[in-house]
Amino acid sequence: MDKQGRIVKVAGPLVVAEKMSGSKMFDIVFVSEHKLMGEIIEIEEDRASIQVYEDTAGIGVGEPVYMTDQPLVVELGPGIIESIYDGVQRPLDVIYDSEGDYISRGIQVPALDREKKWDFVPTAKPGDEVDGGDFLGYVQETQLVKHYIMVPHGVAGKVKSIEKGEFTVEETVAVISSDGEDIPVIMMQRWPVRQPRPYVEKMSPEVPLFTGQRVIDMFFPIARGGTACVPGPFGSGKTVIQHQLAKWVDSEVIVYIGCGERGNEMTDVLLEFPELIDPKSGAALMKRTVLIANTSNMPVAAREASVYTGITIAEYFRDMGYSVALMADSTSRWAEAMREISGRLEEMPGDEGYPAYLGAKLASFYERAGSVKCMSKNRDTCGALTIIGAVSPPGGDLSDPVVQSTLRVVKVFWSLEARLAYARHFPAISWLNSYSLYNDNIVQNVTENVAEDYFDLQKDAMNILEKESELEEIVRLVGVDALSASDRLILLVARMLREDFLHQNAFHDIDTYSPIEKQYKMIKNIMYFYSQSQDSINTGADIKGVENMDVLNRIARMRYVKNEDLEKIDEIKQEIDSELKSLAEKEEETV
Ligand code: ADP
Repeated sequence: MDKQGRIVKVAGPLVVAEKMSGSKMFDIVFVSEHKLMGEIIEIEEDRASIQVYEDTAGIGVGEPVYMTDQPLVVELGPGIIESIYDGVQRPLDVIYDSEGDYISRGIQVPALDREKKWDFVPTAKPGDEVDGGDFLGYVQETQLVKHYIMVPHGVAGKVKSIEKGEFTVEETVAVISSDGEDIPVIMMQRWPVRQPRPYVEKMSPEVPLFTGQRVIDMFFPIARGGTACVPGPFGSGKTVIQHQLAKWVDSEVIVYIGCGERGNEMTDVLLEFPELIDPKSGAALMKRTVLIANTSNMPVAAREASVYTGITIAEYFRDMGYSVALMADSTSRWAEAMREISGRLEEMPGDEGYPAYLGAKLASFYERAGSVKCMSKNRDTCGALTIIGAVSPPGGDLSDPVVQSTLRVVKVFWSLEARLAYARHFPAISWLNSYSLYNDNIVQNVTENVAEDYFDLQKDAMNILEKESELEEIVRLVGVDALSASDRLILLVARMLREDFLHQNAFHDIDTYSPIEKQYKMIKNIMYFYSQSQDSINTGADIKGVENMDVLNRIARMRYVKNEDLEKIDEIKQEIDSELKSLAEKEEETV
């Protein structure tokens, strides 16, 4: 750090320095004697504009800026899982233990523990030809994550030596000879956050990523490696849905970026997450999770970085062949950070003051999702990175530029509505406005692995809900009694779909998670009820009788059936049949 520039201007998180020739865009610098970390985001001749990741109060003109010639990188290796990092990958839990509540500026703590020894088990052996991305071995990092140690990209050659044993992340675990040169390989890699990690090819995402949330899996499914956004006004359940996904989504690794939400909300995440139990393994959920926390009271530039830090970590686990889910709550706060920095740079503002490149930035972020064939010569593995971003537009207004730019790039839209949240219909995902563009991709997988008629049920159920919304207006004008029996049946079934299927209580032990088999059985029963009742009505049954059938109670309670007792849901069909039969008999008697 011998090269130095000099500060000529300080504007909040933005510092301008001169005498910076030789530095490049996105180089990391350290500002003033406090060594505040910052990143160069604009260069003009020898002047550099720097976004600073820490509070710049008290920093003045004339103070030095130290150049590093290095971009912002993350450290990748054992010890990442279970960590709680800030936007530039400083371990908040470690800092908290040493510094307490108040984090002093300029503090530098490595992201990965340098002392801790990990049990390295080689899978490659001396003499093996290896290339970037190939596995050398693994560390059982937590009960839930086997952390593969990969040959760093750019290194290729023959394994000269490789050792089993206990190592820190900086100790050599293998030596690779390449063109007569011996390259020591350690478990830790560094990667520049703004540069996507490479893969062989991106494939069309064809495997559904089930979440245990019925409205999502059955109506608006997402694929592994897909992208989704959840916009919604305050209080509509964005955070609960993100937590539900983090808990239940069928992924091996979760990266949760808490970006710019209010401090107390993030504290909830930080306090709550470590307590959560992974339902499948019974282990703490943190054993497969990385948390990145940037609250609204942390410097705005670090928020901008947090999104990149998170996605790079997620890509690293994808490269091991895992299905990784990344959740960002909320991308609006990230966009606001961009707006603030752009304003300070005096760039030409676009819509609502957001920079003109907002759309491009969002697109390049979501572009890093995907189902990919991993870089590796000695294994044929695919990994997936799914991105789910919450958007919190002011007043829930969907015409907001962040929502609009996001919708242009993501393929799934779960629209949270205040109206539904107000009526305590949770998750408040609108069945009329939401959509998923993955239906066609996942057809084959779903019809083979879930059920042939999955999409028929989805379509038929959706039709009923759409018809209900058309009928609502008529009912408001003339009342239910004026409707035909068929229309009344539609209203009845639509209510069942809404209340007994789409509604799902995140806080109920059983209802919180429905495996896909259960979801299928539930909706199948409801649609069976519909078709059988329709037949009965056609042959003269009274709609009032249908509306008062006892089986309705049993249908309403399907959601509480334990996952190990699913045959109880199947039994309902017979009850529907027998009750409709006795209804028909009663009709005949009265005729
Ligand atoms: P947001 O993040 O959009 O401001 P929250 O996620 O904090 O909203 O949700 C607000 C409240 O709505 C929660 O405290 C909870 O009471 C209720 N809620 C949201 N989703 C559900 C759900 N799936 N089941 C039950 N209650 C829910």
